[in-house]
Amino acid sequence: MKKFNVDSNGFYGEFGGAYIPEILYDNVEKLKDAYLKILDDPAFQKEYHDLLRDYVGRPSPLYLTRRLSEKYGCKIYLKREDLNHTGAHKINNTIGQILLARRMGKTRIIAETGAGQHGVATATVCALMDMECIVYMGETDIKRQHLNVQKMEMLGAKVVPVTSGNMTLKDATNEAIRDWCCNPSDTYYIIGSVVGPHPYPDMVARLQAVISEETRKQLKEKEGRETPDYVIACVGGGSNAAGMTYHFLDDEDVKIVLAEAAGKGIDSGESAATIQLGRLGIIHGSKTLIMQTEDGQIEEPYSISAGLDYPGIGPIHAYLVKTGRSEVLSVTDDEAIKSAFELTKLEGIIPAIESAHALGVLDKKKFNPEDVVVICLSGRGDKDMETYIDIRKSL
Ligand SMILES: *Cc1c(COP(=O)(O)O)cnc(C)c1O
Repeated sequence: MKKFNVDSNGFYGEFGGAYIPEILYDNVEKLKDAYLKILDDPAFQKEYHDLLRDYVGRPSPLYLTRRLSEKYGCKIYLKREDLNHTGAHKINNTIGQILLARRMGKTRIIAETGAGQHGVATATVCALMDMECIVYMGETDIKRQHLNVQKMEMLGAKVVPVTSGNMTLKDATNEAIRDWCCNPSDTYYIIGSVVGPHPYPDMVARLQAVISEETRKQLKEKEGRETPDYVIACVGGGSNAAGMTYHFLDDEDVKIVLAEAAGKGIDSGESAATIQLGRLGIIHGSKTLIMQTEDGQIEEPYSISAGLDYPGIGPIHAYLVKTGRSEVLSVTDDEAIKSAFELTKLEGIIPAIESAHALGVLDKKKFNPEDVVVICLSGRGDKDMETYIDIRKSL
């Protein structure tokens, strides 16, 4: 982790940094000074890994598909983040951050959420640790994701509807930052992806890195070598992709393919293909690629998957693509849906619609029979059943 690591100012090349209001400066500085010490502390590591094992259910299996592999003519492994408690990779991060918040003496937790997955993962760890939890969520998303709202409330969180802008993730994030500015001393903000001001992108990447750490060990057992030929992951903000790739970044023979949501098509004006369409700008405290209009207004992204429609991208991925370390492909709504039904039929696994975008890459690359391909199955499809049911009805 040398060449692609964040620098001491929080930059990956030209991307990243910490562009924050004055009032948060002290807070972010303290976090910056503390996070590596806390994360590296053996007592923290023990508590974190014990909870990952006994509460989350890790290590998640690395499953060699049979029928999917046959169909694409290579060895396809799925890293089963869908089997984690709460149904996705997000809990790896929230467990780590709440342990950190406690060690920093914070008592009040805030979070933003789009589809509600990060909100549920945050509300879950707050219940576990008996901490106050406030989740900001756009009114539009509250209507679309009612079950997750009910889960958060049952877990004891207060869900605050956000009615500014398009009332989605970007607006919920603005509101969470506003809350943080008003309560900098007692409040800890658990960010849900490798986005936001430094040190969040690096911290979240390190907490999700357990995915690639386990994968190396599992591959060694199953294939006799620690590195695959390809790793593939979908990118919203980029946390499951950062975790899936973290321990492979310096192995440059491991090809990294990221799947962005192309929505109705990359040129349709309705997509979330931030890396390909975005231009440099600042969003939520970080300099990165952003979907924006000519005059710098943030453009509302679109994807069938609520977890992928963030208008920015984690600075690490902007950098990895810019330097040629990662390749980015775009996968449309229709292609992702097709992949979701294919995985269900061939392997008996209903994936999250986000994860189905990573599976959509299989149709777009040519593999050799001996290629070992690892796909991060970031989450399960329970939350997407209404979408899948509607599509089945219209077939
Ligand atoms: C939130 C989510 C994503 C997108 O977030 P990243 O930070 O890009 O990983 C992907 N898959 C699932 C299942 C999610 O819940």
